[in-house]
Amino acid sequence: MHKTVLKVGGSNLKSIEDFSRIISLMKTYERPVILVVSAFYGVTDCLEKAVSDESYAGELLEYLHRVHRLVLERYIIDKDRIVRASEELTVCLSALEELLSSKERHQVATINEILSFGEKLSARVIQALLDANAVACRLALPEEIGFVSNQRFYQGSILLKKSSHNLKKHLNADVTWVVPGFYAISEQGKTVLLGRGGTDYSAACLAHCVGASYLDVWKDVEGYLSGDPKIISGVKKISHLSYQEAAELSYFGAKILHPRTIRPLVSKRIQVRLFNPEKHLEPGIRNEATRISYKTTTGKEVIKSVTSDEDVALLKLKGSGVGIKKGILAEVTGAFDKAHINIRSVVTSQTAIHFIFSRTNLQAAKQIVDEINRNLDFDTEIDDDIAWVAAVGQGINQKEGVAARIFTALAKADINVQQIVLGASEVAIYFVVQRKLVSKAVQSIHQEIFNHNNQ
Ligand code: ASP
Ligand code: MG
Repeated sequence: MHKTVLKVGGSNLKSIEDFSRIISLMKTYERPVILVVSAFYGVTDCLEKAVSDESYAGELLEYLHRVHRLVLERYIIDKDRIVRASEELTVCLSALEELLSSKERHQVATINEILSFGEKLSARVIQALLDANAVACRLALPEEIGFVSNQRFYQGSILLKKSSHNLKKHLNADVTWVVPGFYAISEQGKTVLLGRGGTDYSAACLAHCVGASYLDVWKDVEGYLSGDPKIISGVKKISHLSYQEAAELSYFGAKILHPRTIRPLVSKRIQVRLFNPEKHLEPGIRNEATRISYKTTTGKEVIKSVTSDEDVALLKLKGSGVGIKKGILAEVTGAFDKAHINIRSVVTSQTAIHFIFSRTNLQAAKQIVDEINRNLDFDTEIDDDIAWVAAVGQGINQKEGVAARIFTALAKADINVQQIVLGASEVAIYFVVQRKLVSKAVQSIHQEIFNHNNQ
């Protein structure tokens, strides 16, 4: 039985010393476990570059060979093992070379396959180095074990029922497995990426499918904090979050877990434990940095964290009656969906519909709305000089006075709030400000909530 699924991300696969920590952390577990790994640090970006710049392929292949081979040579003593692992590395790199030089290299399916090679390579190397260092384990590739997703390229969603069924057949419960994250296989046999940073999501889905009790995420962070320490002083560590709180914090900008990680965990009450390899390696009882579970707790201050995201842009569809015109929302959102544009927020009134997107999607979204709007004659307007800020905590929409404190703090700091959404989530309030005011906004709220008595 696999009680624990572990995830190690690219930021912990950076320096050659990082790999000795992976061996150490695996030894602290009662095995078997499942280890899900990302690509080595920066490799997915390099693969992306090779897709758009043909002349870079040769240099990239040479680089990938060098960094992966270095790890094998540093951590494996047995020469035969090194030879075997190097041969596998060469086979994998040849397959990548073939894809990079193929006629189809610009097709979406091929690009998805190319970008999955960072994880394919790292999982191979990590399996070999663990196995050679007294952590017996085997490699399990999504295509071999039936870890299946729909065929939405770049943004696949795991088919949990089918994958659970397949994994029962293919993942022997007595074996420790190393699985590459970030991609799955469609039922049509295509490689489908799960979104940038998607290894968290892979690991969460695997934990769901095998019925694990814990998803342990090893990451070089202090844990969830009351704010971003880069812009706020006096931040506090959060020892526990509910699923909903963690999901909203990821959604609104705390870059600790991928926003899709929580969903597959909820129905099976799988707990997330966040560890830092530099701090939590002693065996025995370990205190994780933050735990995420089904339990809900309301602290004295209600708000647990303030977060922000600058990767947002606003598209407005304006005109009297736009908010009540039948079918318009369905038409526009249907068209966004067809173009794979994710809406991050939508707010409607009688005279306006406001959409918020990632900034990269703004122009495409505007074109779609302009096209639909041609016969309707509403006004469209864009604003990509915004950021959003969210305050998250269980009970935030139930306890009187919380919103008042937030907006009083903002008013005192002379910050104009352009849009407020309250009530859409039980645990979050979010609002939009001009981008240049975002740091000041989070600082003033944090000060009001957490350092109130120190003023
Ligand atoms: N390697 C992929 C990325 O950088 C997936 C991940 O790291 O989770 O986006
Ligand atoms: Mg990565």
